[in-house]
Amino acid sequence: MTRIFGLLLTIRLFLWSGVLLAQDGFTCLTTFADSLRLNCTYNSSEWSYYRNQSLYVPDGNSGIPFHNAPIKTINVSINVIQKNDGSGNFEDTPDTRNRFRRIINWINDFYSNYSPSDQINWVSELPSYDSKIRFSIGEEGEERIYFIKNTSWWSYYDAVHGLYIYNDTLFANHPERMKDVNIFIFGNPYNYNFANSLPPSWSDFNSNTAIATFYWPSSDSDYAKAGTIAHELGHVLDLLHTYSGNGAPPVSDPYNMDFLKDVFLVSLNPDISNCPHIADYNTDAYAVNGDRVTNNLMGGNKDQKYISPLQAGQMHRALSLTSSRKYVHCEKSEVPLVITDEQLWDFNINYIGT
Ligand SMILES: [Zn+2]
Repeated sequence: MTRIFGLLLTIRLFLWSGVLLAQDGFTCLTTFADSLRLNCTYNSSEWSYYRNQSLYVPDGNSGIPFHNAPIKTINVSINVIQKNDGSGNFEDTPDTRNRFRRIINWINDFYSNYSPSDQINWVSELPSYDSKIRFSIGEEGEERIYFIKNTSWWSYYDAVHGLYIYNDTLFANHPERMKDVNIFIFGNPYNYNFANSLPPSWSDFNSNTAIATFYWPSSDSDYAKAGTIAHELGHVLDLLHTYSGNGAPPVSDPYNMDFLKDVFLVSLNPDISNCPHIADYNTDAYAVNGDRVTNNLMGGNKDQKYISPLQAGQMHRALSLTSSRKYVHCEKSEVPLVITDEQLWDFNINYIGT
C-alpha cells in the first residue's frame, strides 16, 4: 500500500540583510542569507531525493516526470510608482505598454534560447537551451501593468526591507496581486542603476517575493533592462550568482548538493579552477573561453542570458519546494508521477504539472 505523509511547516524565516554588490552597468543588489535553502532540512530519505537539483533538470532524458516538465509560466505584475500628479515615471500610454511587452518577450527569449559563451565539453545542454520557464504580464490589452500615484513611495527606497513594506501595503488593498511576482519601478531622482529582489522561502509558502528597480527613460536601455529583470527573476526562482560578491554568492564547495557542476567544473576530475566566475559587466563574455567572464544569466555580464541544465533544475525545484510555486501556471506533464513503494514525505512539496 502506498502511503504519503505530508507535513505542513509554518516556520517563518526572516529577512535577508542588505548589502551592496557593485558592478558596472546595471547592478544587482539582491541578497540571500548564506545557504538559506541548505538550512532547511528534513529527516526522510525522500527529502534527499526530492531536494536534489539534478532531479528537476528538464532535459527529457528519462521516463520520470521531473525531467519532462511542461512549459511553466510565471505570472508577473509591473507596478509603476509615479508622483501624486502622475509625473516622474513611465506614463500610462500604449507606448509604455508596448515597451513592457517587448521586455517580457526578450526575457522569455533569454529563458529559452541561449547557448553558453564559455562551453564546457562534458556538459549535455538542455534541448534547444530551453529552461521550460516563461513569464507573462497577461494578454495584450489586459496586461498587469499598474500605475500607482504616491510621491512618498516614488521617492523613498529602502533597498531590501522596503520591498516587504511595499508588498504588505499593496496586498492589503489588492490581495489578488499576491498571485503575481510584483516588479516595482520607482522614481529615479538619483540616477540609480541597480535592481534587487527577494528570494523565495523554503518554509513559508504564502510569503511574497518582489523585484525593485528604478525608472529609465530611454527605450535604448530596454534590452539591457530586460537582462537585469531576467536576472532578478532568476533570484525569485532561487538562483544564486555565479560570481562572488556581497550578495547571493554561489555554492563553491564541489561536494555540496547544490554545487553547479555544469557551470563551474571545466572537467570532472574535478577541476574547480573555473569557480567562481567574475562579474565584469562590460567585458565581452564570448571573447575568451575560460576567463570566468561568461554570459550566464546570473553572471553579472551585459550578455547575461545562458541557463545551465542544473540552474534550470534549481528553478524547477523552487517551483515545487518554495513559495515561488504559487506564481506558476502550467499544464500537467505528459509523464505521470508513479509511486510504487511506501514513501514518507515529511516536507511540503507541490508537484505542479511535473
Ligand atoms: Zn543578482
